[in-house]
Amino acid sequence: MTAAAGPGVIGIPNGSFAQNCWLVFDPVSREAVIIDPGEEHGRILATVAEHRLTVGAIWLTHAHIDHILGVTACREATGAPVWLHPDDRRWFDALPQQGAMFGIPGLTQPAPPEHQLAAGQEMAVGPWRFAVRHVPGHAPGHVAFVGHGVCFSGDVVFQDSIGRTDLAGGDLDQLMASIQREILSLPDETRLLTGHGPETTVGRERRRNPFLQ
Ligand SMILES: [Zn+2]
Ligand SMILES: [Zn+2]
Repeated sequence: MTAAAGPGVIGIPNGSFAQNCWLVFDPVSREAVIIDPGEEHGRILATVAEHRLTVGAIWLTHAHIDHILGVTACREATGAPVWLHPDDRRWFDALPQQGAMFGIPGLTQPAPPEHQLAAGQEMAVGPWRFAVRHVPGHAPGHVAFVGHGVCFSGDVVFQDSIGRTDLAGGDLDQLMASIQREILSLPDETRLLTGHGPETTVGRERRRNPFLQ
């Protein structure tokens, strides 16, 4: 058997917020993680089953409602533990209040995350390693997962745009500093797999994103 060229990545745009959930997996062992399980947990879990993946962890870039609506269902279906940066616990624990704010009443508070993310931490999907980068500004506990030419960047930067900073804990100066320090320091060809919208690259956003000029 020859070694795989890299981890597998599947994007699942879903829900009323058109949020991108990502499955990252080892093509050989089929070990997988779910990044940001959004609203349509049924579709996410069907994709997991279709590709015969075994989910070992749920990683959260941050805890805004659109990125965590599927956490409880995906956790119950897979038994996988949840990883979150502690600075976003306030948002995670306030899921019912976030629901009320965005017109989705009746949500229950999820069980606390099993594990904390921290800057510089190394996360594993089978043999594949991803580094955690802390990128506050859109949300205080926002992180990106970087490895193998890919950056799962959540709501920090998008094609031609950046994350909003008007929600509680948001800070525009901090966001711009995070983007400069943790995202634009990556090689130009790095794929940015964002929390919403089409994928882009570091180089494209460095050159063409109107918010970064
Ligand atoms: Zn967000
Ligand atoms: Zn979002």
